Amino acid sequence: MRWIIGNWKMNGTRAEARQRTRELLRALPPLPEGLHVAVCPPYTSLGATAEVLTPPLELGAQDVSWQDSGAFTGEVSAPMLRDAGCGLCVVGHSERRQLLGESDGMVAQKLRALWRHGLLPVLCVGETLAEREQGRTEEVLRMQLLAALEGSSPADLLVAYEPVWAIGTGRPAHAADSARGLGVLRQALDAVWGADGAGVPCLYGGSVSAANCAPFWTEGRADGALLGGASLDAQAFAAIVRSAAEVRP
Ligand code: PEP
Repeated sequence: MRWIIGNWKMNGTRAEARQRTRELLRALPPLPEGLHVAVCPPYTSLGATAEVLTPPLELGAQDVSWQDSGAFTGEVSAPMLRDAGCGLCVVGHSERRQLLGESDGMVAQKLRALWRHGLLPVLCVGETLAEREQGRTEEVLRMQLLAALEGSSPADLLVAYEPVWAIGTGRPAHAADSARGLGVLRQALDAVWGADGAGVPCLYGGSVSAANCAPFWTEGRADGALLGGASLDAQAFAAIVRSAAEVRP
């Protein structure tokens, strides 16, 4: 299975979300079997997006609480996301890990909350520039993945390799970096989940654009992409989906 997922981050009003969703739906090509496309609007625009979203486009969220309900001001739970029409949810994005103190332990609990309620987690992992320069990329990727999955049983999951230095910088990793990082993650999935780990789609994310995406599907060994900036432009988003649709895995 392959996925192209747009993370709109903290951008836009409800009207803009409706307009972008309609434009994306008009621009999307017919999807080949096994290729999925989703958008993850901010919480405030989930409802507006759901009003206009139709298949094949799917709806996701950008974060979730590890609790199901209660006195957790500002948090949104997995049952609430389901109620809003979400089928998937990003977890452990580097912006949350770096700017908002999200720990490996919190990420692991959020995964479990999503699984409890039948939502598909999109687990983000990736090394910082300093870690890369210290030659610690493989160790960091393995540690983040194993910490998130420790003690878990095989379940529906997407993993996104997102080198922190490539996110929002306009400087994507090389396809070879993607292949190496995804190779480490696939090995770690095999170590924890055995044969079930092999079925987990592994995506690349970090400054993917319509102009640079094609090598990620081939040399980059990516089962799709997590898009930030490019997903705010419906035409660019659709062009990336078209590129993925042209590749037969
Ligand atoms: C992201 O934030 O997950 C991301 C991939 O962003 P961008 O595409 O803008 O680098």
